[in-house]
Amino acid sequence: MIDKDRPSSWVPFRASLCRGCNADCCAMLLEVTIGDLVRLGVCSQDEAQGSHKKLFKRLRREKIAMSYREGTGLFMLQSKSNGDCQFLNSTTRLCTVYEKRPDVCRKFPSIGPRPTYCPASRQRA
Ligand code: SF4
Repeated sequence: MIDKDRPSSWVPFRASLCRGCNADCCAMLLEVTIGDLVRLGVCSQDEAQGSHKKLFKRLRREKIAMSYREGTGLFMLQSKSNGDCQFLNSTTRLCTVYEKRPDVCRKFPSIGPRPTYCPASRQRA
């Protein structure tokens, strides 16, 4: 049985798996770059060029980001209480910011916990 938290249970990715899937790949922790935050429209170019620590404080206050790692410059986005990405539509299981989605989402599953494998569970009833 496929378990999104157990990559050893994932299956080799093929595009047809995406049709009707539960978007479990959108229910994993999501780290994004400052460029992703600008594209998503949650920070301005000016903020991006300023202090990232200060920016993180605002993003945390607004429940957009939950952590920031200075070493990598990556921001961990805040998830919904059920673990879904904040940009995932809970009913349709579709991304609401698809055209502006972070690079890591564009590259999945080429990168991720188990490259080229997918947690392809079916859509919830
Ligand atoms: S931004 Fe979109 S594609 Fe990326 S995890 Fe969130 S819902 Fe999924």
